[in-house]
Amino acid sequence: MLQQILAELAETNTQLVAVSKTKPVEQILEMYQQGQRIFGENRVQELVEKQAALPSDIEWHAIGHLQTNKVKYISSFVSLIHSVDSLKLLAEIDKQALRNERVIDCLLQIKIAAEDSKFGLGLAEAEALLSSDRFTQMENIRIVGVMGMATFTDEELQVRGEFKHLKECFDHLKAQYFAEVNHFKEISMGMSGDYHLAQEEGSTMVRIGSLLFGAR
Ligand SMILES: *Cc1c(COP(=O)(O)O)cnc(C)c1O
Repeated sequence: MLQQILAELAETNTQLVAVSKTKPVEQILEMYQQGQRIFGENRVQELVEKQAALPSDIEWHAIGHLQTNKVKYISSFVSLIHSVDSLKLLAEIDKQALRNERVIDCLLQIKIAAEDSKFGLGLAEAEALLSSDRFTQMENIRIVGVMGMATFTDEELQVRGEFKHLKECFDHLKAQYFAEVNHFKEISMGMSGDYHLAQEEGSTMVRIGSLLFGAR
């Protein structure tokens, strides 16, 4: 399954984040031995335990809602945080990254689903964050793109529309705030059930769990 998904993603140069949440280290190691290096987790404790137990060249991505008070546990090693949804969280990531003498790459999570999900920024909120004095003073974080989760539905038109919207948000933010830099280039969208659509709509990074590792 891994090789088949990788072959599909290669057509559009889309990266695979293998979402290993709830799965044991043995299963992750198996996928590692097949060549996969990027893994995503949504719980801090699991992320910390797995990072300690598995090879050090794995790139660990934090993909789920992240509480500010837990950033310190992952700040020494996390390579990308997909779920930045507030200035307060970003400020804490900046602070902990400074303590570790590093720069942490982050994505702004944009709310694209019709569902009443608690997490994610509206486009206007993302713009307010990027325009704030506090943001411009942060030296230890780098915003490398956006992330979004579509509504959990079989309605293809709706999901496609939400992915289109995320791409438009990305294009707008890129033009307004990141026109001069190359690092703002990632659109993290697409999961097991909708990654083909996401790929068609311009995803640069898909987060796939159950299709790779089996149902949770
Ligand atoms: C669990 C999870 C995924 C992967 O979901 P699957 O449907 O198992 O592919 C992707 N993104 C986030 C944020 C998740 O929490």
